[in-house]
Amino acid sequence: MSAKTDTGVPARLRPSPNHGERVGGGSIDMLILHYTGMETAEAALQRLCDPRAEVSAHYVVEEGGSILQCVPEARRAWHAGRSYWKGTTDINSRSIGIEIVNRGYDYDYPEFPDVQIEAVCDLCADIVERHEIKPWRVLAHSDIAPDRKLDPGEKFPWGRLAAKGVGLYVEPEVTGRGIFMQEGESGQPVEALQSMLAIFGYRMEVTGQFDATTRLAVEAFQRHYRPEQVDGIVDQSTIETLHKLLSKLPDLNA
Ligand SMILES: [Zn+2]
Repeated sequence: MSAKTDTGVPARLRPSPNHGERVGGGSIDMLILHYTGMETAEAALQRLCDPRAEVSAHYVVEEGGSILQCVPEARRAWHAGRSYWKGTTDINSRSIGIEIVNRGYDYDYPEFPDVQIEAVCDLCADIVERHEIKPWRVLAHSDIAPDRKLDPGEKFPWGRLAAKGVGLYVEPEVTGRGIFMQEGESGQPVEALQSMLAIFGYRMEVTGQFDATTRLAVEAFQRHYRPEQVDGIVDQSTIETLHKLLSKLPDLNA
């Protein structure tokens, strides 16, 4: 690893041995955000740099806003695990992963400090600009692995990131109105919902059965795009927010 970081924003190196060749030869076209979910930043960093743990991320952003680079961007870091987005399963090969230090749901899931969010915004803006990552390919770990992961969670302010030009975000429709659809139901409206989620990118079979997989995708969607209420129940607000986001995609088949 060179003695310089890849980013134009202030950062220092904390090299991890946990990386490999990017596979498939495609360019880097996704940015995945995580939280560390461990009690302290140091515990998380030690794990991300421990060869036995076999996990890593390109960057770690500490609570105070310090940015550490653990893996060179040219290399494949090991942050996504078993995951899927829009037909892609080897997300590690085409993404950059950022771990945001936060104890997460296993502890008390504290708010993300402002100074930390500012640093995340600056780092993400720098990464998406250099790699020309499309807004709709800036995602949460929970989006690409809704059955396993909750991070960075509904307290992460995606709207603030979008205000800095990073990620696709629309003002969520207000909650508490009309049409409910939930686990156990079936039929054409469920099919329509599943189609929309699949077009957006979630791993979703269009079966017409609102099963556990569907609920988990709805929860992941809400956690990221309609964080006021994360319950896996589809109301008017969930549908309308999803519609608005889909209408922002340049081409539904892209
Ligand atoms: Zn994660």
